[in-house]
Amino acid sequence: MHSESSVFRINQAGYAAGLPVIAAVLGNGPVILKNAAGEIVRSAAFDAPQTDPASGDAVTLVDLGVLEAGAYELESDAGRRRLTVCASPWNTVTHALIKGLYYQRCGCGLLPEHAGVYAHPPCHTAPAQEWTDKSVSRRITGGWHDAGDYGKYVAPGAVTVAHLLYTWKLFPQGCGDDLNIPETGSGIPDILSEARFELEWILQMQRSDGSFHHKLTKSHFAAFIMPQDDLEQEYMMPVCWCATADAAACLALAYRVYLSFDEPFANRMLLAAKHAWTWLQAHPDFVPFMNPEGVRTGRYGGRSDSSNRFWAACELCAATGEEAYRQAAEELYTPDLNLTEFGWMEVGGLGALCCLTDLKESAGDVLYHRLKEDFLRRSEEALALSHASGYGTSLSPDRYVWGSILPVMSHAMAMIINTILTGRQDMRDAALMQWHYALGMNALDLCFVTGFGENTVMHPHHRPSGADGLEAPVPGLISGGPNKCFCYPQTKEKLGPDTPPAKYFLDETPSADTNEIAIYWNSPAVFVGAYFNSPF
Ligand SMILES: [Zn+2]
Repeated sequence: MHSESSVFRINQAGYAAGLPVIAAVLGNGPVILKNAAGEIVRSAAFDAPQTDPASGDAVTLVDLGVLEAGAYELESDAGRRRLTVCASPWNTVTHALIKGLYYQRCGCGLLPEHAGVYAHPPCHTAPAQEWTDKSVSRRITGGWHDAGDYGKYVAPGAVTVAHLLYTWKLFPQGCGDDLNIPETGSGIPDILSEARFELEWILQMQRSDGSFHHKLTKSHFAAFIMPQDDLEQEYMMPVCWCATADAAACLALAYRVYLSFDEPFANRMLLAAKHAWTWLQAHPDFVPFMNPEGVRTGRYGGRSDSSNRFWAACELCAATGEEAYRQAAEELYTPDLNLTEFGWMEVGGLGALCCLTDLKESAGDVLYHRLKEDFLRRSEEALALSHASGYGTSLSPDRYVWGSILPVMSHAMAMIINTILTGRQDMRDAALMQWHYALGMNALDLCFVTGFGENTVMHPHHRPSGADGLEAPVPGLISGGPNKCFCYPQTKEKLGPDTPPAKYFLDETPSADTNEIAIYWNSPAVFVGAYFNSPF
């Protein structure tokens, strides 16, 4: 599915009435915008496009201002393109990004009434063995398949849940409550029901000493088969420091969120979080996770657990109000924590989110005032990156890494939090540019969310999408996007050395390096989408 080539790059899911409409135009102007009646409503003249360093494109961002709802057409000497403006253009795509996680559910069947043609029987229901002692086995249920593979990993899962819970806390009206998941209509918001599916699994990954297994996977990735056909033995892999801290943080956060819906469940999570913290206190020396001999599934190896411990201390402080946790968070806070990163590798941003939006002044001078200054400075850097890009994308050319959508969405989250703290419209507008990037205003002219846009990802590296025999991939999944840093030899062979970083992408199933999907890429996009989906 690809429209004729055009000189216009737009948000293919549409634009919002009430927010500025920006389009990227390749080449020279002038450009006019016509409404459905054929009347010219805007015109822009320019003749010196800037070269975008990440794509090599000569491109100009044209600000069309705030437009009334309706259908429009952009025109220049080099072509035309339709765009739409409506009151709530991003409802559907935001809700689909949440529902995308439902399609990743493991241990249960996806029923036709919820999953339509993507329904499948239950998967991965056999007991898992301890990798280090295969005589021990346990049935662990639930959780989401992590990405294009069928593994389940505690740290990435905890981060994903945290994105969802903060989304609900900050922008509940943007989340929707009619996602058609099994729990719809239960009286609990759908986004919280979906997050709970992972939380119940995370709880089962705790060992009796309080630590957490790093992951539940086989020894190797499955072939491109449906999940119910993946019948080889799964293992509880060894303990992980980062996973234990992330689980503590996420469960303490979840305690606060679910307390008013289900107190026994909330208390169970707080108990588990405290137990994990006690284990961390007894094991202060970080040991990086390494795949045991013979294991080839995702490593997710953090270089340190300091940001993870910091986040855990912040959330336990917010959950309990206990001074010991606040003091621990203050001791763990250092200016080199990256407060605008929200991914599995670096979770300082999640600790910052807790301090800035929940603890506030009660965090004390260091964790509120000093941290706020550091956070605002970091988000300024994200804004500067956006301004340096021809497409307004907050990514330097050398940051087109595996899953480059994550830093783009993380920076958008940081800009949104900045806007909440300061009211700055330039930050909000820059965050909007990252959302436009995800939905098509990019050098590839591609909407990265499956099922959306006229030019959309059709062949994600996602086993069910590759194995189900259907043409369209599972909807509501966001692709990792261009990656010139750590790509496969076959990708290099196809794209060559001269393809610029922002175009280093293959919409091909084998290309996990550029076109995989992952739960923790969907979830920051949910945060950004729900913010722009909320009434201003
Ligand atoms: Zn499964």
